[in-house]
Amino acid sequence: MTNLLPKMAEIWQQTLNWQPTAQQQAQFQRLYELILEGNRQLNLTRITDPQEFWEKHLWDSLRGIAPQGQFIPSLQEAASVIDIGTGAGFPGVLVAITAPNCKITLMDSTRKKITFIDNILTELALINAKTLVGRAEEIGQQPQHRQAYDIALIRAVGTASVCAEYALPLLKRSGLAIIYRGNWTEEETTVLQNTVNQLGGVIELIEKFTTPLSDSIRHCLYLRKVANTPANFPRAVGVPSQKPL
Ligand code: SAH
Repeated sequence: MTNLLPKMAEIWQQTLNWQPTAQQQAQFQRLYELILEGNRQLNLTRITDPQEFWEKHLWDSLRGIAPQGQFIPSLQEAASVIDIGTGAGFPGVLVAITAPNCKITLMDSTRKKITFIDNILTELALINAKTLVGRAEEIGQQPQHRQAYDIALIRAVGTASVCAEYALPLLKRSGLAIIYRGNWTEEETTVLQNTVNQLGGVIELIEKFTTPLSDSIRHCLYLRKVANTPANFPRAVGVPSQKPL
């Protein structure tokens, strides 16, 4: 197999002020191979070209945890992080590879995907990550997970309002939710403002950027938890998406 990921050292340096070590590059490569393999059984991703995979999965995952192009400092310490709806491991596995001091929980409602991730964690020797099968609506009401995380990541799981309802209950006070989006409008900000208020959060930053190879538009929404989330959130399974706040 000659599916070799590009290194892109200069782009990493210019965009994130960082470069992967040889070990991290080897982990990226192994992750890519395992996903291509897993794709034969599971519907993991339609992005399989090496350059596109690098840009839309690797780079995109890490750009979210580097607002304004700098990694969030608490990731270098022992921050507890949860990736809600991790799927094939994005953005969570990338965070586990690049921030070895943080503790990350990779959560998904699909057991088959979590079994796949368990194998990835073993193959890449990622001892700072663990998996969790469940729905965000239920996990967010469990005492061992509610208000337990410093950072919640969520990419391509639902509308921003749904993502906010999944993420904010899981955060400690002063924790940060990072919602990955493609396009985003001012009107959406107005609607989200109201949702986030109800959940005990504020919109701290909305960042627009373009991806470095294909110039695709992206947004990341950074929500800060400033008050406890009322006990009725997240609502029962299916309600957040059926009756968005
Ligand atoms: N974050 C990954 C996967 C996105 S696909 C990426 O960006 O590539 C959405 C994933 O979210 C699926 O794997 C699905 O099983 C999971 N998911 C959807 N609703 C969920 C919920 N309520 N709780 C937990 N996981 C959920």
